[in-house]
Amino acid sequence: MAARPKLIAGNWKMHGSIGQNRDLLHAVVQGTTGLEADVAVCVPYPYLSQTQSLLQQTHVSWGAQNVSQHEKGAYTGEVSGSMLTDFGCRYAIVGHSERRALYGEDNYIVALKFKAAQTAGLIPILCVGETLDQREAAITERVVAEQLDAVIELAGIASLAKSVLAYEPVWAIGTGKTATPEQAQEVHAFVRNRIAGRDPGVASGLQILYGGSVKASNAAELFSMTDIDGGLIGGASLIADEFIKICLAGKN
Ligand code: PEP
Repeated sequence: MAARPKLIAGNWKMHGSIGQNRDLLHAVVQGTTGLEADVAVCVPYPYLSQTQSLLQQTHVSWGAQNVSQHEKGAYTGEVSGSMLTDFGCRYAIVGHSERRALYGEDNYIVALKFKAAQTAGLIPILCVGETLDQREAAITERVVAEQLDAVIELAGIASLAKSVLAYEPVWAIGTGKTATPEQAQEVHAFVRNRIAGRDPGVASGLQILYGGSVKASNAAELFSMTDIDGGLIGGASLIADEFIKICLAGKN
């Protein structure tokens, strides 16, 4: 099986300013030049234009943290996939647990967003993951399978070939608690095997990222696991040195 390239993607969430972004993006470009791994940042919508102008001649890609499921129309406050490609986005995160928990995005809405992103030419980064209660009730696999199956049902198994998955246990996001490499690997392998049951080629090529309190100090160990193909990085992606070290830990 050909090695999958690693991808390290930052999720800035609702952080940043014109000045901070400039310094951070310059540092990330400098610090990751020549790296074999793919590097990306998912920034707040208002900073897409700035991000595009700072990154367009570089090896670092960029994307958004959300996308509307609609193509266009009377949807006040929403942003469509084609608007994101207008600003050169390569990626759009869909189904982040904060959007599921705080904005009521259920599996079907996430699947619609996944499809809308792909229709617009974006690569969706589909987030799946269980809450602490669900892990303690030993239903992690069921929860993750349902999140994944909703997308497969709507968009088809082949659609996963043009996507990235991120396993993000909700109890590990922004909490400082990281899944152990073995805990993460177990779920990554479950996801890949489930997809392989439908399409082995899609499964073996699919980048599955781990997200949840990844830091410079734990990244290399996580990224060394067979089915972990990089990371989706929240808090640590805002600190240039830390994010660069995480990216370096992803070199193939
Ligand atoms: C995230 O927001 O996707 C995330 C993984 O956050 P953190 O790295 O801060 O846990």
